[in-house]
Amino acid sequence: MSTEVLNLIDGNFTSARTDRFEEVFNPSTGEVIAKVPLSGQFDSTAAVQAARLALPSWSKTPIIDRARVMFRYRELLERHREELACLITRENGKTLAESRAEVRRGIEVVEFACGIPSLFAGQTLANIAEGVDADVMRYPVGVCVGITPYNFPVMVPMWMFPIALVCGNTFVLKPSEKVPLSAARLGDLLLQADCPAGVFNVLNGGRECVDDLIANPDVAAISFVGSTPVAKSIYQQGTSAGKRVQAAGGAKNFCIVMPDADPDLAVQALAAASFGCGGQRCMATSITVPVGNVADSLVKQLSEHAQSLRVGPTDGKENVDLGPLIRRQHVERVSAFIDVASHEGATVTLDGRRSFAGDGFFLGPSIIDAVSPNMSVAREEIFGPVLSVIRAASLDEALQLSQSCEFGNGASIFTSSGYAARQFREHFNAGMIGINVGVPAPMAWFPFTGWNHSFFGDLHIQGQEGIQFYTRQKVTLTRWTPSSGEYHDPVWKA
Ligand code: NAD
Repeated sequence: MSTEVLNLIDGNFTSARTDRFEEVFNPSTGEVIAKVPLSGQFDSTAAVQAARLALPSWSKTPIIDRARVMFRYRELLERHREELACLITRENGKTLAESRAEVRRGIEVVEFACGIPSLFAGQTLANIAEGVDADVMRYPVGVCVGITPYNFPVMVPMWMFPIALVCGNTFVLKPSEKVPLSAARLGDLLLQADCPAGVFNVLNGGRECVDDLIANPDVAAISFVGSTPVAKSIYQQGTSAGKRVQAAGGAKNFCIVMPDADPDLAVQALAAASFGCGGQRCMATSITVPVGNVADSLVKQLSEHAQSLRVGPTDGKENVDLGPLIRRQHVERVSAFIDVASHEGATVTLDGRRSFAGDGFFLGPSIIDAVSPNMSVAREEIFGPVLSVIRAASLDEALQLSQSCEFGNGASIFTSSGYAARQFREHFNAGMIGINVGVPAPMAWFPFTGWNHSFFGDLHIQGQEGIQFYTRQKVTLTRWTPSSGEYHDPVWKA
Protein backbone atom coordinates (compact mmCIF):
# COMPACT_ATOMS: atom_id res chain seq x y z
CA MET A 1 0.00 0.00 0.00
CA SER A 2 1.66 3.24 -1.11
CA THR A 3 1.65 6.49 0.86
CA GLU A 4 -1.29 8.77 0.23
CA VAL A 5 -0.37 12.35 -0.59
CA LEU A 6 -2.31 14.81 1.57
CA ASN A 7 -3.70 18.22 0.72
CA LEU A 8 -2.58 21.19 2.83
CA ILE A 9 -5.68 23.21 3.65
CA ASP A 10 -5.91 25.87 6.35
CA GLY A 11 -2.67 24.79 7.98
CA ASN A 12 -3.55 21.08 8.18
CA PHE A 13 -2.47 18.15 6.07
CA THR A 14 -5.68 16.23 5.34
CA SER A 15 -6.92 13.43 3.10
CA ALA A 16 -8.83 14.59 0.06
CA ARG A 17 -12.52 13.69 0.01
CA THR A 18 -12.27 11.52 -3.08
CA ASP A 19 -11.91 7.90 -4.03
CA ARG A 20 -10.01 8.80 -7.20
CA PHE A 21 -6.23 8.49 -7.04
CA GLU A 22 -3.31 8.35 -9.45
CA GLU A 23 -0.04 6.52 -8.95
CA VAL A 24 3.17 8.46 -8.42
CA PHE A 25 6.25 6.70 -9.80
CA ASN A 26 9.95 6.71 -9.16
CA PRO A 27 11.06 7.07 -12.81
CA SER A 28 14.47 5.54 -12.03
CA THR A 29 12.97 2.21 -11.00
CA GLY A 30 9.40 2.23 -12.31
CA GLU A 31 8.14 1.63 -8.75
CA VAL A 32 4.99 3.25 -7.40
CA ILE A 33 6.04 5.44 -4.47
CA ALA A 34 2.77 7.17 -3.54
CA LYS A 35 -0.80 7.71 -4.57
CA VAL A 36 -2.05 11.20 -5.22
CA PRO A 37 -5.71 12.18 -4.84
CA LEU A 38 -7.60 13.73 -7.72
CA SER A 39 -9.38 16.23 -5.51
CA GLY A 40 -12.90 17.23 -6.44
CA GLN A 41 -15.00 20.30 -5.79
CA PHE A 42 -15.25 19.73 -2.03
CA ASP A 43 -11.50 20.10 -1.55
CA SER A 44 -10.95 22.84 -4.13
CA THR A 45 -13.71 24.90 -2.50
CA ALA A 46 -12.21 24.26 0.95
CA ALA A 47 -8.73 25.30 -0.22
CA VAL A 48 -9.97 28.54 -1.79
CA GLN A 49 -12.14 29.27 1.23
CA ALA A 50 -9.17 28.83 3.58
CA ALA A 51 -7.17 31.26 1.42
CA ARG A 52 -10.10 33.71 1.31
CA LEU A 53 -10.55 33.66 5.10
CA ALA A 54 -6.81 34.13 5.70
CA LEU A 55 -6.65 37.08 3.31
CA PRO A 56 -7.90 40.01 5.46
CA SER A 57 -5.42 39.43 8.24
CA TRP A 58 -2.47 38.48 5.97
CA SER A 59 -2.97 41.40 3.60
CA LYS A 60 -2.97 43.79 6.59
CA THR A 61 0.15 42.21 8.13
CA PRO A 62 2.98 44.73 7.62
CA ILE A 63 4.94 43.85 4.49
CA ILE A 64 8.14 43.64 6.53
CA ASP A 65 6.60 40.90 8.67
CA ARG A 66 5.42 39.08 5.55
CA ALA A 67 8.96 39.28 4.21
CA ARG A 68 10.28 37.95 7.53
CA VAL A 69 8.36 34.73 6.94
CA MET A 70 10.44 34.40 3.77
CA PHE A 71 13.68 35.09 5.65
CA ARG A 72 12.82 32.19 7.99
CA TYR A 73 11.72 30.06 5.05
CA ARG A 74 15.02 30.68 3.31
CA GLU A 75 16.94 29.40 6.33
CA LEU A 76 14.79 26.26 6.46
CA LEU A 77 15.20 25.65 2.73
CA GLU A 78 18.98 25.99 3.08
CA ARG A 79 18.93 23.49 5.93
CA HIS A 80 16.78 21.04 3.94
CA ARG A 81 18.41 21.68 0.56
CA GLU A 82 19.82 18.19 0.11
CA GLU A 83 16.63 16.51 1.29
CA LEU A 84 14.60 18.54 -1.24
CA ALA A 85 17.04 17.70 -4.02
CA CYS A 86 16.73 13.97 -3.21
CA LEU A 87 12.94 14.28 -3.25
CA ILE A 88 12.96 15.95 -6.68
CA THR A 89 15.24 13.23 -8.06
CA ARG A 90 13.04 10.54 -6.56
CA GLU A 91 9.77 11.69 -8.11
CA ASN A 92 11.02 13.47 -11.25
CA GLY A 93 14.10 11.45 -12.19
CA LYS A 94 16.55 14.26 -12.98
CA THR A 95 20.10 13.80 -11.68
CA LEU A 96 20.99 14.86 -8.15
CA ALA A 97 23.26 17.58 -9.55
CA GLU A 98 20.33 18.93 -11.59
CA SER A 99 18.00 18.74 -8.58
CA ARG A 100 20.49 20.60 -6.39
CA ALA A 101 20.66 23.34 -9.03
CA GLU A 102 16.85 23.45 -9.15
CA VAL A 103 16.61 23.93 -5.38
CA ARG A 104 19.20 26.72 -5.59
CA ARG A 105 17.17 28.51 -8.30
CA GLY A 106 14.08 28.20 -6.09
CA ILE A 107 15.86 29.59 -3.03
CA GLU A 108 16.92 32.56 -5.14
CA VAL A 109 13.26 33.46 -5.69
CA VAL A 110 12.78 33.42 -1.92
CA GLU A 111 15.80 35.73 -1.60
CA PHE A 112 14.22 38.04 -4.17
CA ALA A 113 10.95 37.90 -2.21
CA CYS A 114 12.78 38.87 1.01
CA GLY A 115 13.70 42.14 -0.75
CA ILE A 116 10.21 42.96 -2.03
CA PRO A 117 9.53 45.67 0.60
CA SER A 118 12.06 47.94 -1.10
CA LEU A 119 10.59 47.21 -4.55
CA PHE A 120 7.02 47.64 -3.37
CA ALA A 121 7.26 51.36 -2.65
CA GLY A 122 5.03 53.52 -4.83
CA GLN A 123 5.56 56.95 -6.33
CA THR A 124 4.53 60.38 -5.12
CA LEU A 125 4.34 63.75 -6.78
CA ALA A 126 3.80 66.81 -4.59
CA ASN A 127 1.65 69.68 -5.84
CA ILE A 128 0.48 67.95 -9.02
CA ALA A 129 -2.28 70.57 -8.99
CA GLU A 130 -2.61 73.57 -6.69
CA GLY A 131 -2.25 72.17 -3.14
CA VAL A 132 -2.82 68.62 -4.35
CA ASP A 133 -0.37 65.74 -3.81
CA ALA A 134 -0.60 62.48 -5.75
CA ASP A 135 0.65 59.07 -4.75
CA VAL A 136 0.33 55.53 -6.05
CA MET A 137 0.46 52.52 -3.74
CA ARG A 138 0.35 48.78 -4.35
CA TYR A 139 -2.22 46.37 -2.88
CA PRO A 140 -2.59 42.60 -3.15
CA VAL A 141 -5.04 41.19 -5.69
CA GLY A 142 -6.53 38.52 -3.37
CA VAL A 143 -6.58 34.74 -3.58
CA CYS A 144 -4.03 33.55 -6.16
CA VAL A 145 -3.74 30.09 -7.68
CA GLY A 146 -0.60 28.43 -9.09
CA ILE A 147 -0.82 25.46 -11.46
CA THR A 148 2.54 23.86 -12.16
CA PRO A 149 4.16 21.23 -14.43
CA TYR A 150 6.10 18.08 -13.62
CA ASN A 151 9.53 19.11 -14.85
CA PHE A 152 10.50 21.47 -11.99
CA PRO A 153 8.66 20.26 -8.87
CA VAL A 154 10.34 22.81 -6.57
CA MET A 155 11.52 25.69 -8.75
CA VAL A 156 8.37 26.46 -10.74
CA PRO A 157 6.03 26.62 -7.71
CA MET A 158 8.62 28.89 -6.12
CA TRP A 159 8.56 31.23 -9.12
CA MET A 160 5.09 32.07 -7.86
CA PHE A 161 4.12 31.79 -4.20
CA PRO A 162 7.04 33.54 -2.40
CA ILE A 163 6.38 36.67 -4.49
CA ALA A 164 2.59 36.41 -4.23
CA LEU A 165 2.71 36.00 -0.44
CA VAL A 166 5.06 38.90 0.32
CA CYS A 167 2.83 41.06 -1.89
CA GLY A 168 0.02 40.27 0.59
CA ASN A 169 -1.96 37.63 -1.31
CA THR A 170 -2.94 34.18 -0.14
CA PHE A 171 -2.26 31.19 -2.35
CA VAL A 172 -3.51 27.79 -3.51
CA LEU A 173 -0.88 25.67 -5.26
CA LYS A 174 -2.07 22.88 -7.57
CA PRO A 175 1.13 20.97 -8.33
CA SER A 176 1.51 18.43 -11.14
CA GLU A 177 -0.08 15.16 -10.08
CA LYS A 178 3.08 13.44 -11.38
CA VAL A 179 5.32 15.12 -8.75
CA PRO A 180 3.21 16.01 -5.69
CA LEU A 181 5.74 15.09 -2.97
CA SER A 182 8.05 18.10 -3.33
CA ALA A 183 5.11 20.53 -3.16
CA ALA A 184 3.87 18.95 0.07
CA ARG A 185 7.32 19.36 1.61
CA LEU A 186 7.50 23.00 0.47
CA GLY A 187 4.19 23.59 2.26
CA ASP A 188 5.36 21.82 5.38
CA LEU A 189 8.50 23.97 5.58
CA LEU A 190 6.47 27.13 5.03
CA LEU A 191 4.30 26.24 8.04
CA GLN A 192 7.49 25.72 10.05
CA ALA A 193 8.52 29.24 9.01
CA ASP A 194 5.39 30.47 10.86
CA CYS A 195 3.35 31.22 7.79
CA PRO A 196 -0.20 31.54 9.20
CA ALA A 197 -2.76 28.82 8.47
CA GLY A 198 -4.65 29.28 5.20
CA VAL A 199 -2.13 31.69 3.68
CA PHE A 200 -0.58 28.89 1.62
CA ASN A 201 -2.55 25.80 0.62
CA VAL A 202 -1.67 22.81 -1.55
CA LEU A 203 -4.43 21.10 -3.48
CA ASN A 204 -3.68 17.87 -5.33
CA GLY A 205 -5.49 16.87 -8.46
CA GLY A 206 -5.69 17.03 -12.22
CA ARG A 207 -7.75 18.72 -14.88
CA GLU A 208 -11.09 18.77 -13.01
CA CYS A 209 -9.48 20.34 -10.01
CA VAL A 210 -8.07 23.09 -12.24
CA ASP A 211 -11.51 23.65 -13.81
CA ASP A 212 -13.01 24.04 -10.32
CA LEU A 213 -10.35 26.57 -9.34
CA ILE A 214 -10.91 28.62 -12.48
CA ALA A 215 -14.68 28.59 -11.94
CA ASN A 216 -14.38 29.69 -8.29
CA PRO A 217 -15.40 33.37 -8.03
CA ASP A 218 -13.12 33.90 -5.01
CA VAL A 219 -9.99 33.28 -7.10
CA ALA A 220 -8.57 36.59 -8.34
CA ALA A 221 -5.47 35.52 -10.25
CA ILE A 222 -3.98 32.42 -11.86
CA SER A 223 -0.35 31.65 -12.63
CA PHE A 224 0.08 28.68 -14.92
CA VAL A 225 3.16 26.89 -16.24
CA GLY A 226 2.78 23.85 -18.51
CA SER A 227 2.14 22.87 -22.12
CA THR A 228 0.88 25.33 -24.72
CA PRO A 229 -2.62 23.88 -25.35
CA VAL A 230 -3.39 23.93 -21.61
CA ALA A 231 -1.78 27.37 -21.13
CA LYS A 232 -3.93 28.80 -23.92
CA SER A 233 -7.12 27.22 -22.61
CA ILE A 234 -6.50 28.35 -19.01
CA TYR A 235 -5.71 31.86 -20.23
CA GLN A 236 -8.96 31.99 -22.21
CA GLN A 237 -11.13 30.47 -19.47
CA GLY A 238 -9.53 32.51 -16.69
CA THR A 239 -9.67 35.87 -18.43
CA SER A 240 -13.27 35.34 -19.54
CA ALA A 241 -14.10 34.69 -15.89
CA GLY A 242 -12.56 38.13 -15.15
CA LYS A 243 -9.36 36.87 -13.54
CA ARG A 244 -5.79 37.95 -14.06
CA VAL A 245 -3.87 35.19 -15.82
CA GLN A 246 -0.22 34.65 -16.67
CA ALA A 247 0.22 31.35 -18.53
CA ALA A 248 3.62 30.08 -19.65
CA GLY A 249 3.49 27.34 -22.28
CA GLY A 250 5.69 24.97 -24.24
CA ALA A 251 8.76 25.69 -26.32
CA LYS A 252 10.97 24.83 -29.26
CA ASN A 253 14.34 26.37 -28.60
CA PHE A 254 17.06 27.00 -31.19
CA CYS A 255 20.82 27.23 -30.82
CA ILE A 256 22.81 28.75 -33.69
CA VAL A 257 26.49 27.83 -33.95
CA MET A 258 28.58 30.19 -36.08
CA PRO A 259 31.80 29.08 -37.81
CA ASP A 260 33.78 31.42 -35.48
CA ALA A 261 32.40 29.83 -32.26
CA ASP A 262 34.73 28.20 -29.75
CA PRO A 263 34.07 24.57 -30.79
CA ASP A 264 34.63 22.93 -27.39
CA LEU A 265 32.48 25.47 -25.57
CA ALA A 266 29.71 25.10 -28.18
CA VAL A 267 29.70 21.29 -28.05
CA GLN A 268 29.67 21.06 -24.28
CA ALA A 269 27.04 23.77 -23.85
CA LEU A 270 24.84 22.29 -26.59
CA ALA A 271 25.00 18.80 -25.15
CA ALA A 272 24.08 20.11 -21.69
CA ALA A 273 21.27 22.29 -23.06
CA SER A 274 19.81 19.52 -25.24
CA PHE A 275 20.18 16.44 -23.04
CA GLY A 276 20.28 17.92 -19.50
CA CYS A 277 17.18 17.02 -17.45
CA GLY A 278 16.48 14.50 -20.22
CA GLY A 279 15.50 17.41 -22.49
CA GLN A 280 12.48 17.99 -20.23
CA ARG A 281 13.05 21.71 -19.80
CA CYS A 282 11.09 24.50 -21.41
CA MET A 283 14.49 26.10 -22.07
CA ALA A 284 16.14 22.94 -23.47
CA THR A 285 17.70 23.26 -26.90
CA SER A 286 15.68 21.25 -29.37
CA ILE A 287 17.21 22.43 -32.67
CA THR A 288 20.77 23.40 -33.44
CA VAL A 289 21.51 25.43 -36.53
CA PRO A 290 25.16 25.17 -37.57
CA VAL A 291 25.99 27.94 -40.03
CA GLY A 292 28.29 27.27 -43.01
CA ASN A 293 31.13 24.81 -42.83
CA VAL A 294 30.96 24.16 -39.07
CA ALA A 295 28.14 21.58 -39.48
CA ASP A 296 30.05 18.32 -40.15
CA SER A 297 32.53 18.73 -37.32
CA LEU A 298 29.84 19.96 -34.89
CA VAL A 299 27.59 16.95 -35.52
CA LYS A 300 30.54 14.56 -35.22
CA GLN A 301 31.79 16.04 -31.94
CA LEU A 302 28.28 16.29 -30.51
CA SER A 303 27.60 12.62 -31.32
CA GLU A 304 30.85 11.54 -29.67
CA HIS A 305 30.06 13.66 -26.62
CA ALA A 306 26.47 12.40 -26.40
CA GLN A 307 27.60 8.77 -26.64
CA SER A 308 29.88 9.30 -23.66
CA LEU A 309 26.99 10.42 -21.43
CA ARG A 310 26.14 7.94 -18.67
CA VAL A 311 22.41 7.14 -18.76
CA GLY A 312 20.87 5.43 -15.73
CA PRO A 313 18.96 5.55 -12.45
CA THR A 314 19.45 8.77 -10.51
CA ASP A 315 17.74 8.05 -7.20
CA GLY A 316 20.54 7.86 -4.63
CA LYS A 317 23.17 7.74 -7.39
CA GLU A 318 25.79 10.39 -8.17
CA ASN A 319 27.63 9.26 -11.30
CA VAL A 320 24.91 9.71 -13.89
CA ASP A 321 24.64 12.32 -16.66
CA LEU A 322 21.18 11.57 -17.99
CA GLY A 323 18.31 10.26 -15.89
CA PRO A 324 14.98 8.73 -16.86
CA LEU A 325 12.03 10.49 -18.44
CA ILE A 326 8.94 11.07 -16.34
CA ARG A 327 6.81 8.11 -17.51
CA ARG A 328 7.04 5.09 -19.79
CA GLN A 329 4.36 6.58 -22.09
CA HIS A 330 6.55 9.67 -22.46
CA VAL A 331 9.52 7.50 -23.52
CA GLU A 332 7.24 5.98 -26.17
CA ARG A 333 5.99 9.38 -27.33
CA VAL A 334 9.51 10.82 -27.65
CA SER A 335 10.79 7.64 -29.35
CA ALA A 336 8.04 7.88 -31.96
CA PHE A 337 9.43 11.24 -33.11
CA ILE A 338 12.68 9.51 -34.13
CA ASP A 339 10.79 7.14 -36.49
CA VAL A 340 8.69 9.96 -37.90
CA ALA A 341 11.82 12.02 -38.61
CA SER A 342 13.38 9.11 -40.43
CA HIS A 343 10.20 8.60 -42.53
CA GLU A 344 10.17 12.29 -43.35
CA GLY A 345 13.70 12.04 -44.78
CA ALA A 346 15.97 13.11 -41.92
CA THR A 347 19.11 11.20 -40.92
CA VAL A 348 19.20 9.61 -37.48
CA THR A 349 22.86 10.13 -36.57
CA LEU A 350 22.51 8.89 -33.00
CA ASP A 351 19.56 6.76 -31.85
CA GLY A 352 18.99 6.77 -28.07
CA ARG A 353 16.54 3.86 -28.14
CA ARG A 354 18.20 0.86 -26.59
CA SER A 355 17.49 -1.51 -23.75
CA PHE A 356 18.43 -0.49 -20.25
CA ALA A 357 18.66 -2.62 -17.13
CA GLY A 358 15.74 -2.41 -14.69
CA ASP A 359 12.25 -0.99 -15.09
CA GLY A 360 13.10 2.72 -15.20
CA PHE A 361 11.86 4.99 -17.97
CA PHE A 362 15.09 5.48 -19.90
CA LEU A 363 15.95 6.89 -23.30
CA GLY A 364 19.47 7.77 -24.40
CA PRO A 365 20.37 10.97 -26.28
CA SER A 366 19.44 11.14 -29.98
CA ILE A 367 20.72 13.40 -32.75
CA ILE A 368 18.78 13.84 -35.99
CA ASP A 369 20.63 15.50 -38.87
CA ALA A 370 19.43 16.93 -42.21
CA VAL A 371 16.19 18.15 -40.68
CA SER A 372 14.13 20.67 -42.65
CA PRO A 373 11.86 23.29 -41.02
CA ASN A 374 8.60 21.61 -42.09
CA MET A 375 9.36 18.23 -40.44
CA SER A 376 7.53 17.25 -37.23
CA VAL A 377 10.74 17.23 -35.18
CA ALA A 378 11.35 20.82 -36.23
CA ARG A 379 7.84 22.07 -35.45
CA GLU A 380 6.51 20.19 -32.43
CA GLU A 381 7.66 20.26 -28.83
CA ILE A 382 9.29 16.86 -28.14
CA PHE A 383 10.36 17.41 -24.51
CA GLY A 384 12.95 14.65 -24.50
CA PRO A 385 16.67 14.11 -25.21
CA VAL A 386 16.39 14.56 -28.98
CA LEU A 387 18.41 17.21 -30.81
CA SER A 388 17.56 18.09 -34.42
CA VAL A 389 20.10 19.68 -36.75
CA ILE A 390 18.95 22.19 -39.39
CA ARG A 391 21.92 23.28 -41.48
CA ALA A 392 21.96 26.92 -42.69
CA ALA A 393 24.21 28.64 -45.22
CA SER A 394 24.20 32.03 -43.49
CA LEU A 395 23.22 33.81 -40.27
CA ASP A 396 20.31 35.47 -42.11
CA GLU A 397 18.96 32.06 -43.13
CA ALA A 398 19.29 30.85 -39.51
CA LEU A 399 17.48 33.94 -38.17
CA GLN A 400 14.70 33.47 -40.70
CA LEU A 401 13.89 30.03 -39.21
CA SER A 402 12.50 31.67 -36.07
CA GLN A 403 9.86 33.60 -38.01
CA SER A 404 7.78 30.49 -38.69
CA CYS A 405 8.19 28.96 -35.21
CA GLU A 406 4.98 28.71 -33.18
CA PHE A 407 6.90 29.07 -29.92
CA GLY A 408 9.32 31.73 -28.69
CA ASN A 409 10.88 30.87 -25.35
CA GLY A 410 14.68 30.69 -25.45
CA ALA A 411 17.32 30.87 -28.18
CA SER A 412 21.12 30.88 -28.11
CA ILE A 413 24.01 31.70 -30.36
CA PHE A 414 27.62 30.60 -30.08
CA THR A 415 29.98 33.00 -31.81
CA SER A 416 33.03 35.19 -31.27
CA SER A 417 31.53 37.97 -33.39
CA GLY A 418 29.87 40.86 -31.56
CA TYR A 419 28.06 41.77 -34.76
CA ALA A 420 26.56 38.28 -35.19
CA ALA A 421 25.55 38.26 -31.52
CA ARG A 422 23.85 41.63 -31.86
CA GLN A 423 22.04 40.64 -35.08
CA PHE A 424 20.84 37.54 -33.27
CA ARG A 425 19.55 39.43 -30.25
CA GLU A 426 17.79 42.00 -32.40
CA HIS A 427 16.22 39.67 -34.95
CA PHE A 428 15.62 36.25 -33.43
CA ASN A 429 11.91 35.81 -32.68
CA ALA A 430 12.10 34.65 -29.03
CA GLY A 431 11.92 36.25 -25.59
CA MET A 432 15.00 34.89 -23.81
CA ILE A 433 18.35 35.16 -25.56
CA GLY A 434 21.66 33.44 -24.79
CA ILE A 435 24.97 34.66 -26.22
CA ASN A 436 27.52 31.90 -25.62
CA VAL A 437 25.09 30.65 -22.95
CA GLY A 438 23.30 27.36 -23.62
CA VAL A 439 20.27 27.71 -21.35
CA PRO A 440 19.42 31.42 -21.04
CA ALA A 441 16.86 30.92 -18.25
CA PRO A 442 16.48 34.18 -16.33
CA MET A 443 17.33 34.05 -12.64
CA ALA A 444 14.90 35.19 -9.93
CA TRP A 445 15.51 38.92 -10.39
CA PHE A 446 14.34 38.88 -14.03
CA PRO A 447 11.04 37.89 -15.63
CA PHE A 448 10.63 34.69 -17.64
CA THR A 449 9.85 36.44 -20.90
CA GLY A 450 8.49 33.82 -23.32
CA TRP A 451 7.04 35.13 -26.61
CA ASN A 452 4.48 33.87 -29.15
CA HIS A 453 2.71 30.68 -28.01
CA SER A 454 5.20 30.16 -25.21
CA PHE A 455 3.30 32.71 -23.13
CA PHE A 456 -0.25 34.02 -22.79
CA GLY A 457 -0.82 37.15 -20.75
CA ASP A 458 0.70 40.57 -20.17
CA LEU A 459 2.87 40.27 -17.09
CA HIS A 460 5.42 37.46 -17.02
CA ILE A 461 6.30 35.23 -14.11
CA GLN A 462 9.14 36.16 -11.70
CA GLY A 463 11.13 39.31 -11.06
CA GLN A 464 9.51 42.74 -10.95
CA GLU A 465 6.81 41.69 -13.43
CA GLY A 466 5.85 39.11 -10.80
CA ILE A 467 5.30 41.91 -8.29
CA GLN A 468 3.18 43.78 -10.81
CA PHE A 469 1.12 40.68 -11.55
CA TYR A 470 0.41 40.01 -7.87
CA THR A 471 -0.55 43.61 -7.03
CA ARG A 472 -2.97 46.27 -8.11
CA GLN A 473 -2.33 49.96 -7.77
CA LYS A 474 -4.29 52.74 -6.19
CA VAL A 475 -3.71 56.40 -6.96
CA THR A 476 -4.69 58.92 -4.28
CA LEU A 477 -5.03 62.66 -4.77
CA THR A 478 -4.84 64.54 -1.47
CA ARG A 479 -5.60 68.15 -0.66
CA TRP A 480 -5.62 69.79 2.77
CA THR A 481 -6.89 73.34 3.01
CA PRO A 482 -6.43 75.74 5.93
CA SER A 483 -10.08 76.53 6.36
CA SER A 484 -13.41 75.51 4.93
CA GLY A 485 -13.67 78.24 2.32
CA GLU A 486 -15.52 78.08 -0.96
CA TYR A 487 -14.71 74.91 -2.88
CA HIS A 488 -12.80 75.19 -6.18
CA ASP A 489 -11.90 72.00 -7.99
CA PRO A 490 -8.09 72.23 -8.24
CA VAL A 491 -7.75 69.47 -10.83
CA TRP A 492 -10.81 69.50 -13.05
CA LYS A 493 -10.29 72.89 -14.65
CA ALA A 494 -9.05 74.17 -17.97
P1 NAD B 1 0.81 19.93 -18.63
O1 NAD B 1 0.31 21.07 -19.42
O2 NAD B 1 0.40 18.56 -19.01
O3 NAD B 1 0.40 20.09 -17.07
C1 NAD B 1 0.67 21.27 -16.36
C2 NAD B 1 -0.36 21.43 -15.25
O4 NAD B 1 -1.65 21.58 -15.83
C3 NAD B 1 -0.44 20.24 -14.30
O5 NAD B 1 -0.62 20.73 -13.00
C4 NAD B 1 -1.67 19.48 -14.79
O6 NAD B 1 -2.34 18.82 -13.75
C5 NAD B 1 -2.56 20.57 -15.36
N1 NAD B 1 -3.33 20.13 -16.52
C6 NAD B 1 -2.98 19.20 -17.45
N2 NAD B 1 -3.93 19.11 -18.41
C7 NAD B 1 -4.89 20.00 -18.08
C8 NAD B 1 -6.12 20.38 -18.69
N3 NAD B 1 -6.53 19.84 -19.83
N4 NAD B 1 -6.86 21.34 -18.08
C9 NAD B 1 -6.44 21.92 -16.94
N5 NAD B 1 -5.28 21.60 -16.33
C10 NAD B 1 -4.52 20.65 -16.88
O7 NAD B 1 2.42 20.07 -18.60
P2 NAD B 1 3.49 19.01 -18.05
O8 NAD B 1 3.54 17.85 -18.97
O9 NAD B 1 3.30 18.79 -16.61
O10 NAD B 1 4.83 19.88 -18.19
C11 NAD B 1 5.57 19.98 -19.37
C12 NAD B 1 5.18 21.21 -20.18
O11 NAD B 1 5.40 22.39 -19.39
C13 NAD B 1 6.04 21.40 -21.42
O12 NAD B 1 5.22 21.79 -22.48
C14 NAD B 1 7.00 22.51 -21.03
O13 NAD B 1 7.52 23.25 -22.11
C15 NAD B 1 6.12 23.35 -20.17
N6 NAD B 1 6.90 24.22 -19.29
C16 NAD B 1 6.95 25.55 -19.61
C17 NAD B 1 7.70 26.41 -18.84
C18 NAD B 1 7.78 27.87 -19.21
O14 NAD B 1 8.27 28.65 -18.42
N7 NAD B 1 7.30 28.28 -20.37
C19 NAD B 1 8.39 25.93 -17.72
C20 NAD B 1 8.31 24.56 -17.41
C21 NAD B 1 7.54 23.72 -18.21
